[in-house]
Amino acid sequence: MDDRAELEALVAGVKGHLARARANGALRVPKAVAPPPAPRASLPLADVRAELGECTRCKLHGTRTHIVFGVGNPSAELVFIGEAPGANEDLQGEPFVGDAGQLLDRMILAMGYQRDQVYIANIIKCRPPGNRNPEPDEIEACEPFLKKQLAALAPRVIVALGKFAAQWLTGRPDAAISALRGRWHTYEGIQVMPTYHPAYLLRTPSAKRVVWEDLQQVMAELRGKVSPDAAAAD
Ligand code: SF4
Repeated sequence: MDDRAELEALVAGVKGHLARARANGALRVPKAVAPPPAPRASLPLADVRAELGECTRCKLHGTRTHIVFGVGNPSAELVFIGEAPGANEDLQGEPFVGDAGQLLDRMILAMGYQRDQVYIANIIKCRPPGNRNPEPDEIEACEPFLKKQLAALAPRVIVALGKFAAQWLTGRPDAAISALRGRWHTYEGIQVMPTYHPAYLLRTPSAKRVVWEDLQQVMAELRGKVSPDAAAAD
């Protein structure tokens, strides 16, 4: 038998073997195996809180009563980030529970949400004494946890309440809140709308109109429409 005839006989033999194996059910083509899920890029929120622990990473730990980590729906599409806990927040361990918090609650309701449907946190998690502004070293010490918190939440929109949140979330530490508010920015691919802090609105009620305009932009982004009947929070 020459080489060509030998090769043809070999191919015919293999084909026959495969046909018999297929008929007997002995030949199975393995199904495609789904790739394992991609590892989560972020820690779950509870793990971020656990990692924070009873934090002593900056000097504010010495004067706080409670760490104010954040509150709300871990799957919220809308997150509000303020500046720092005040006296009431420090005592209760929850953000935005004083007068400014009650105004924020009314703003949230006017947007069509309940407080527990959104998530609320601050740039830093312990109260600065006397409600002074957060200092750069305090923000620097605390920001890794805010970053992890926002990565875990992965909301569609963040509303930055006041100068410190707006500056941090937009990466523009020298910009005035008046220059940042009312326009869209991004943080890690998330839409950010800066606006005035509710505490400022308590001192300057005339600013509520522009804040409501900012929040209407947020509603339009989230819902694709603006409720014509929605009344400004007052
Ligand atoms: S402000 Fe942040 S970094 Fe400083 S002690 Fe509190 S949790 Fe820790």
